[in-house]
Amino acid sequence: MKLIIAETKKEAREQVKEWHRQGLTVGLVPTMGALHEGHASLVDAAAKECDRVVASIFVNPTQFAANEDLDKYPRDFDRDCRILEGHGCHMVFHPEVAEMYPDEFCAAVDIESEMTKQLCGKSRATHFKGVCTVVSKLFNIVGADKAYFGEKDAQQLAVIKTMARDLDMDIEIVGCPTVREEDGLARSSRNTYLNADERKAAGVLYKGIVAAKDKIDRVPQGGIATAESILEVMRDVINTEPLAKIEYIEAVDGMTLLPVDEIKKGVLIAMAVHIGNTRLIDNFTV
Ligand code: AMP
Repeated sequence: MKLIIAETKKEAREQVKEWHRQGLTVGLVPTMGALHEGHASLVDAAAKECDRVVASIFVNPTQFAANEDLDKYPRDFDRDCRILEGHGCHMVFHPEVAEMYPDEFCAAVDIESEMTKQLCGKSRATHFKGVCTVVSKLFNIVGADKAYFGEKDAQQLAVIKTMARDLDMDIEIVGCPTVREEDGLARSSRNTYLNADERKAAGVLYKGIVAAKDKIDRVPQGGIATAESILEVMRDVINTEPLAKIEYIEAVDGMTLLPVDEIKKGVLIAMAVHIGNTRLIDNFTV
């Protein structure tokens, strides 16, 4: 089936309504484009579980702060369409900024809890408000049955699950595992910012994860690892790389995202590390 390109909200909404009239289920994969294997894995998961798959490609200005990389964010729509088609996506929703945010636009969706103030929220104060607003709009426009998000952005996934639960959104949120490069670096559109030396150095994030998992595995049965002992191992590994600058490495409850002192099942260990000028995030759940 040829990929349908919908540039207006009306086109996207009417096509999904038509599929629903035919009794078909619809999965949504929200993205900002510059697609890679990580995005493709979400499309694959949606195609497995739903009759029709819609991907959105929209570099959402409201989730970028003024000093962030909105203008230089990579964009290649034709290549993205080929990837989507190759993975069985049926429609791409690709609106202009004015289609999503006309001049009179004045609404916002936000989560009033500590969870958006932790981890990335400390340095990106308005980021999750922008994410919740655009994702709410995408849910309302597309009207999908399920939406697929990557565990690579663990805080985003937790925030969206909370938003959908608290605002009674009639959509199932599905989390999908992080897809990695051969050296373990999580695939990310921002990896294209890295030069050759930085790309090599970026492998240290995953080395930190491996070291932490190894230390957790070696805790004797019945014993408890303190969060600090595990975070210290990660910091030590990452600090061996001169190009890496840690923004945060934290252990938090996987649901509330509040800091924890002990490592137990369900704890999320998440980090943001700058490699040169590029900010990378990664995480794992115990
Ligand atoms: P983005 O285009 O970066 O906004 O990402 C769109 C979606 O793809 C989000 O749900 C991300 O969590 C997900 N994603 C990005 N990178 C990966 C990855 N390496 N593995 C799995 N999902 C990913």
